[in-house]
Amino acid sequence: MATPASIKTTCCYCGVGCGIEIRRDRQGHLTLSGDPDHPANRGQLCSKGRYLLQVALDHDDRLLYPMVRPHRNAPLTRTNWDAALDHIAATFRRIIERHGPDAIGFYVSGQLLTEEYYVATKLVKGFLGTHNIDSNSRLCMSSAVAGYKLTLGDDAPPICYDDIEHSQCILIAGANPAWCHPILFRRIEAHRAANPDVRLIVVDPRRTQSAAVADLHLQIRPGTDIVLYNALAAYLIHHGYVDFDFITNHTEGFEALCNHLKNASLERAARLCDVPLEDLQQAAEWIGQSPALLTLWAMGLNQSTAGVANNLALINLSLLKGQIGRPGMGPFSLTGQPNAMGGREVGAMANLLPAHRDLNNPDHRAEVAAFWGVPSLSDRPGLTATEMIDALEKGRLKAIWIIGTNPALSQPELARLERAFARAELVVVQEISTRAATLQWADVVLPAASWLEKQGTMTNSERRITYLPRLLDPPGEARPDVWILCDFARRMGWGHAFSYQDESEIFNEYARLTRGTPIDISGVSYERLQRERSIQWPCPAPDHPGTPRLFTNHRFLTPSGRARLHPVPEPAPPEPPSPEFPFILTTGRVRDQWHTRTKTGKVARLNQHAPEPFLEMHPDDAAACGLSEGALAEVTGRTGKLTVRVHLTPTIKRGVVFLPMHWGQEAETADGRVNVLIPCRIDPISRQPALKFARVQVAPLRRQ
Ligand code: SF4
Repeated sequence: MATPASIKTTCCYCGVGCGIEIRRDRQGHLTLSGDPDHPANRGQLCSKGRYLLQVALDHDDRLLYPMVRPHRNAPLTRTNWDAALDHIAATFRRIIERHGPDAIGFYVSGQLLTEEYYVATKLVKGFLGTHNIDSNSRLCMSSAVAGYKLTLGDDAPPICYDDIEHSQCILIAGANPAWCHPILFRRIEAHRAANPDVRLIVVDPRRTQSAAVADLHLQIRPGTDIVLYNALAAYLIHHGYVDFDFITNHTEGFEALCNHLKNASLERAARLCDVPLEDLQQAAEWIGQSPALLTLWAMGLNQSTAGVANNLALINLSLLKGQIGRPGMGPFSLTGQPNAMGGREVGAMANLLPAHRDLNNPDHRAEVAAFWGVPSLSDRPGLTATEMIDALEKGRLKAIWIIGTNPALSQPELARLERAFARAELVVVQEISTRAATLQWADVVLPAASWLEKQGTMTNSERRITYLPRLLDPPGEARPDVWILCDFARRMGWGHAFSYQDESEIFNEYARLTRGTPIDISGVSYERLQRERSIQWPCPAPDHPGTPRLFTNHRFLTPSGRARLHPVPEPAPPEPPSPEFPFILTTGRVRDQWHTRTKTGKVARLNQHAPEPFLEMHPDDAAACGLSEGALAEVTGRTGKLTVRVHLTPTIKRGVVFLPMHWGQEAETADGRVNVLIPCRIDPISRQPALKFARVQVAPLRRQ
């Protein structure tokens, strides 16, 4: 292909969606920098983004050609695309004939482009006839999706990043943007530096880097979030810090919430959350007095058996204050992946249809079926990410096609995953990297094109759609995901519906399907994105400028048009304390790694920051266990155990230990497979797994 001298694209890591510029000099050398014109990052990049070109150009770990495993214990051997795709098509046909379409599942990724997501959704829901497609966004975002729907009426993040610079009080709950969304956090820090009256409150069981620079760190006991937010809500009501006009005219549920909060108080929260009362009083006053409250949250709230409830309790604060739909205020969930939003938009999840249509609504199903030219869509609900693994283990799901995600490390309770994969009739892994641990379970491997090797669009956390052009050819026989799926569809006999000329045709088809919905992007096209760089949805007409902020008229997307306040009961702990497992294990991320390190783990400079997995522990707890800094500890939970080096820090609460989630088993004594310890428990509404909580025992490693 002809290679342009420079392109503008988007970072393929986190949901901030920073703009990137790549230039080619006369000798053909490429350089990468932040795009100064992109509104998300204004030229800045974090450490991960800065090394992306190295990741893209280093092909040492790339999968170069399709491979098959003739039988389960055989090594993967090279094949060609025809043989690989024909084999999958024949196996799918046989399984569907014997067991029906619900015996097939697709597990996809928030790193796919919107066009890829859309084609996968159309293939699975429209043509294979099952809703068994789910994204790894289930593991990070689905509680926030449900939280938005239950309060605002739709999965509609109301704010834009520019609201940071208008906010007066920022409450970060269960997130560490200093490390996980660094460019947004730099904007917060710059805003605070320029405006010393702006308050930053961080709620986190750990003293993270975000917490360390906050005005106030509420270091709550893990799992007590709702106690805290209910107490703050009660304080706002009792101290007259609520907007009664807004509540009366634009919400429902206020009375029920007041009744529910009768026993909530800061004193009780101080006791149950294990936070000083004066800190809670200070936080409540800052929130109460603030003319512009912005709340940001991520996995700390979402990855819980009470994930949706956590969201509802936090969003209550913004609604009580009537602070939504105007500059500098509102609830804002931070997405972990670059296109988690795009997957939600196209309906690439077990419980969704394209353009936020409702899977349970027969009219919506009929509308989508007619658009795709199929007789109907299944009325049976699909299996979510963890449910697909359960179904594989029980033999109800026979085949799974995994695209761009690495469940062999990222799903909870890895022992269960191994049992499930061992029982599957067919595991297809569509991947870019030989580093993906899931390859060990693959019967068929399909080499995919990576960032810069394909074109399409992504939507970041603030609903901003950006176009990503193709700059490089994929190595070997690797192909863009979208064309792999279209080729497969042709082999299944559905070529008429998947014979696109290029990606823009796919985008235009999807954009037409959004017409008249709350996320209408029928005014967006590749031409516009190439010219204007990015547009925020909704954008229903070619001359529409896009929508930075939602709900500016305070009319919400619920049937009544009112936002819903929710009484949120305190949940029981996911697992009661026990002498056998005296510690609470929580999990999280480190600054320079991303997901399971298939990309960031290739970069020596990024590995320097945290060279191996570690267990963070309070020195007093460690001493009581007979452990010292750097000692090897055996961490045992109900579902498995691992061996890892101890890192002592007085900033973690006693009784709580922390493991980062990025590593696999690097060595016998450096096992970062944190999910061997995390039981598979899910939120009952969002069905998001609780990846941040397990009870464990920690002991010095005793060699046999
Ligand atoms: Fe990429 Fe996120 Fe860093 Fe921006 S903040 S450069 S999107 S990883």
